[in-house]
Amino acid sequence: MLEQLKQKVLEANLRLVEYKLVLFTWGNVSAIDREKGLVVIKPSGVDYEKMTADDMVVMNLDGEKVEGDLNPSSDTPTHLELYRSFPDIGGVAHTHSTFAVAFAQAAKDIPPYGTTHADFAYGAVPCTRDLTGEEIKYDYELNTGKVIVECFREKGIEPGRVPAVLVHSHGPFTWGKDAAEAAKNSAILEEVAKMAYLSETLGAQTASKNIQNKHYFRKHGEGAYYGQK
Ligand code: 13P
Repeated sequence: MLEQLKQKVLEANLRLVEYKLVLFTWGNVSAIDREKGLVVIKPSGVDYEKMTADDMVVMNLDGEKVEGDLNPSSDTPTHLELYRSFPDIGGVAHTHSTFAVAFAQAAKDIPPYGTTHADFAYGAVPCTRDLTGEEIKYDYELNTGKVIVECFREKGIEPGRVPAVLVHSHGPFTWGKDAAEAAKNSAILEEVAKMAYLSETLGAQTASKNIQNKHYFRKHGEGAYYGQK
C-alpha cells in the first residue's frame, strides 16, 4: 500500500540527517495522500541508517494504524492535527536543529531580519505558547498540534505563507506541498534561525516591509517571477 509515498517519505527523513538537522533517532517526516485520507510517517525510535521504506507506517486521519509492523513516530498525533487543520499541506517535518530549537527554548518568534527570511516566510516565524500541565498530561502530542493551530489562528497567520512554527520549549515543525518540501523547509528554517541569532547579537532591526514584500512576492503567489517558467 502507498509504496511510492513510503519511498518518498523515507527519502525525506534521510534528508534530515544529510542536512545535519537531527542526531540519532530525533526528528520525523510524514506525507499525506489526500484522496485516500492516509498519512505515511516514519517509525518511532528507529536508526535512520537502518530504516527502510517497508518500515514506514500508514495511519488514517483518526489516528488508527492502517498498515505497518512498527510503532509510528511518537509525534504522529501532532502531524495528523496539522493535516486536519491545514488542508493545503502535503508533508510535515519535525527536527531538533540547534538554532531553531534555541529560539523555541527562548520562547521567541524569529523576526524577519532580511531577504533570506522574506524569501521563505511572510513575516515572523511564530513561537507557540507553552502547553499547560493538563495539556502535557493528557494527549500531549495531539495538544502540541492544537497549540500550533491556535497560534496561527490567533495571530492571523496563513500556513501557506509561513511554512514553519516553533513549539515552545521543544522545537520546529515545518510543512510543504510534500515530504521533500517539508524537509527542505526545515533546512531553510535552521539557516534563517542561525542568521537571525547572529543578526540579533549585532543589533539588527527587522527588514522594512517594502523589502519583505518584494522578496516574498517575487517568489510566491500570482505575480512571482523568480526562477524559470
Ligand atoms: P520519533 O522517533 O518517535 O519520531 O521521535 C523523534 C522526535 O524527535 C520526538 O520529538
